[in-house]
Amino acid sequence: MPVQIGVHKNVHKNIKIVHICWAASGMTEDRAGTVSTRPRMKNPLKGDASLDESIYARIAEAILHGRLKAGTKLPEQRLAALFGVSRERIRKTLHRLAAERRLEIIPNRGCFVPRPTVEDVRTVYEAHRVFEAGIIEQLLRVLDERILAALDAHLAAERAAAERGDRAASVRLSGAFHLLLVDQLGNAELSRFLRELLSRSSLMVSVYEPAQSSLCAVDEHGAIVAALRARDLEAALRLSREHFSHIESRLNLERGAPDEPDLAGIFAEE
Ligand SMILES: [Zn+2]
Repeated sequence: MPVQIGVHKNVHKNIKIVHICWAASGMTEDRAGTVSTRPRMKNPLKGDASLDESIYARIAEAILHGRLKAGTKLPEQRLAALFGVSRERIRKTLHRLAAERRLEIIPNRGCFVPRPTVEDVRTVYEAHRVFEAGIIEQLLRVLDERILAALDAHLAAERAAAERGDRAASVRLSGAFHLLLVDQLGNAELSRFLRELLSRSSLMVSVYEPAQSSLCAVDEHGAIVAALRARDLEAALRLSREHFSHIESRLNLERGAPDEPDLAGIFAEE
């Protein structure tokens, strides 16, 4: 019997954005933007480094945007043919993505899009809930108009990205909201921890959430900010906890890789 956790439903009615953050996966935001919005190269044979970067970005983007599902196998030979490069170069790129935990290499079996288990998902979102509760408590001690203004500006950017349908920006800004909360504390260890955690949850959202209903409301971020502004600790903690639970409950672990993924279609030039 297929495994499914939580209830599959659309919780939010208004503006919706995907709650994942490329920036969280160990990159800077600038780098994140570059990866998300990198123009596709019609003729990528312009030099080894840029070609490698281009292939890396296109595979990473396909994972981020949910085009590569959990468990999809990425055969070196097939990718080499699709990108018109040697297997060695593809292997190098796949290893780089595996080192970043965006792909999984299983000895003698090949390279796969990770398939996090129910337990992986539960523990990661539980970590998010517990971690952000601590962050909110600390944040209320230092909260001032400057921080609130930064949060308001971030919410405005999130809304604008959602309204113009800019998925890449929405993805980046969505996770960046939580980083903005933690970064206000000026504790590099806490910031680093959240980046690591977000890179894990981002991947789960990318490979498991259905493309259309996979969305997380900017309204929920807005509600957290409103509770912070009101200095209502109890409400802020509850809203944050519910926020991560909503995201977790929408993950549909039933969605696995198709038997024959259309890799040519997935990596086709647009
Ligand atoms: Zn969020």
